[in-house]
Amino acid sequence: MDKTDIYRTTAYEEKTWSEPWVTEAELRNALQKENRPLIKELGRTPLPSEYGDLTYLVFGDYTTGKDHDVIIFGKFDGKNLTGYDNPLLRIHSSCRSSELFHASNCECREELDLAMKTMSKEGKGIIIYLNQEGVGNGISAKIATYKNSFEWHGDKVVLRMDPKTKKPTNVYEGYIALGYKPENRDFTIAGEILKAVGVKQVRLMTNNPKKITGLKAQGINVEAVSIKIPPTNEIMREHLNAKKEKLGHNI
Ligand SMILES: [Zn+2]
Repeated sequence: MDKTDIYRTTAYEEKTWSEPWVTEAELRNALQKENRPLIKELGRTPLPSEYGDLTYLVFGDYTTGKDHDVIIFGKFDGKNLTGYDNPLLRIHSSCRSSELFHASNCECREELDLAMKTMSKEGKGIIIYLNQEGVGNGISAKIATYKNSFEWHGDKVVLRMDPKTKKPTNVYEGYIALGYKPENRDFTIAGEILKAVGVKQVRLMTNNPKKITGLKAQGINVEAVSIKIPPTNEIMREHLNAKKEKLGHNI
């Protein structure tokens, strides 16, 4: 069977947590070569929220079999976001440990919250919430890396010191040690989503240069707006430093 038949058979669960039978890049190239769509709108609904009334859309992603959430501040029931010039945009990769369970080792929840608050004030804005845990390596890679980064000290969780270097292992070194990439996310799908809602120019709330170049490469006009979260504890401070040093984020 042709590898790209996954496009038709949607073996979604298979691909999300077990060994993928075709890489995302292979599948994306195959679909692009045949001029087939990478995403599909699965539905949308008006949604009330603490931050104001929203339009909530979900897109299916043919390259990963996952779905991504999109939040648009205000009403959107057409094809193109007309009258929505140069909105704030946050492309946010899922981090369930922080966003749902308030884990304090990273700043993901605070970033998402700040983005929503800022957009709420402007009355305009878009959040593209990409279903890509562990900088694109997946939730099992993230858990394995966290396990090497943290340990119990009595009844407290502390940074685990590397037995050889006697220094803490940040998650990016952790991913490399386990054979993953320190940054394995791809922002092609975010660009596809923007095209699908008819947005060509954005103010992107990010410190990540890869997101900016990724969107620009897809013909989106991008102005970067930095998003600064002060660390709330020592572990988060270490994490933010590692982001700056290892991933080149402008923090
Ligand atoms: Zn996080």
